Parts: sequence; C-alpha cells; structure tokens
Amino acid sequence: MARKEAHDEKLVAEIASHYREILRLVGEDPEREGLLKTPERAAKAIIDITAGYRQDPLAIAQKAVFEHAGSQIVIVKDIEFYSMCEHHILPFFGRVSVGYIPKGKMIGLSKLARIVDTFARRLQVQERLTAQVCRLLSEALPNDGVIVTCDAEHLCMKMRGVEKQDASTITFDYNGKFATDPGLRAEFMSMLGK
Ligand SMILES: [Zn+2]
Repeated sequence: MARKEAHDEKLVAEIASHYREILRLVGEDPEREGLLKTPERAAKAIIDITAGYRQDPLAIAQKAVFEHAGSQIVIVKDIEFYSMCEHHILPFFGRVSVGYIPKGKMIGLSKLARIVDTFARRLQVQERLTAQVCRLLSEALPNDGVIVTCDAEHLCMKMRGVEKQDASTITFDYNGKFATDPGLRAEFMSMLGK
C-alpha cells in the first residue's frame, strides 16, 4: 500500500534540522558520510508515518459503503497495521480484526484497510486505535453493532526488555448488539479462531 505524500520541502528541511541535532546530541557525527542524508530521510519517514493526521477516515469510509441485504455478522480478519506509540515514538504493529452486523449496507474491504491505516499513521496507544476504528465504523454505516480487536507487539516494550519477546497485547472495543449479547461476542471470537 504505497501512499506517499509529495513532501513539503520546507517541512522536510525543518524536521531534518532537528534530527541532525538529535544525532549530534546522542554522540554521533552528523557530517560523517553514512549520516549525511539521514536527517532528510528520517524527516520524510516521520511525515509518512504520521500521514493519518492529514486524512479524513469518515470521508474515505463513506465512499465505500454499498447495499447489502444480509444481516449476519460480517468479519474482516487480520488487517495488518504499523503505528508509533505516543509514549516513546517507537513502533507498535500487528493486526486489527473487525466485525459488524449490517443493516442494509456494507463497507468495501480495501477501504477498511485504509481506514485502519489513517488511525495507525499517527502517534497512538493501542486502546485508542481500537476504539477509533470501532467508533468510525459505527458512524460510517448503518449497523446493529460493531466489534474490533487489535493484537499488537510493542517495540518500546521489547527493545527495552519490559515485555517478553513473544508477548503481544490484545485490546477490544464493541458496541450495539455486541455489547448486550455475549453470545455474539463469542461467535465473533470463534470465527476469528481465538
Ligand atoms: Zn511506548
């Protein structure tokens, strides 16, 4: 999913000047050959990684809502995402799975992945990412309930040895019939194979 923005040169230059300073402060020589272009590359990377601030997920979602006659749970499993934790500005990444009970409409698969991406490409915490995807879907299409799970690994925990290497964190959010009917939540989980 290449979604590169045309970079604003002034913005890149300004962010790059800060990265150059960070390199110097951690004991590097920003003038050595291998690092000469690093501040500019890092600036472009952080702009891309935070592109979600400049995207409107509701508008994206509403362009991809179609008629759908069924009323059984629709599940989209294992949408891959990459995000940055807002506490350490280090990556966390994993998979989001979504379920909803349609009420005359459904949402296109590829757009669902884009919606997750607009929220993931910001400084985040996993709980909020999960809740934002859930709320957005509730707003974007008529439904009788939405459920979202997110399973992620946090490099800020792993790199610093706070979390075991194979550990992951799972978060949930749900509303509508998923909130009132534990059997529906169980059905969703079993369909995910969890
Ligand atoms: Zn963190």
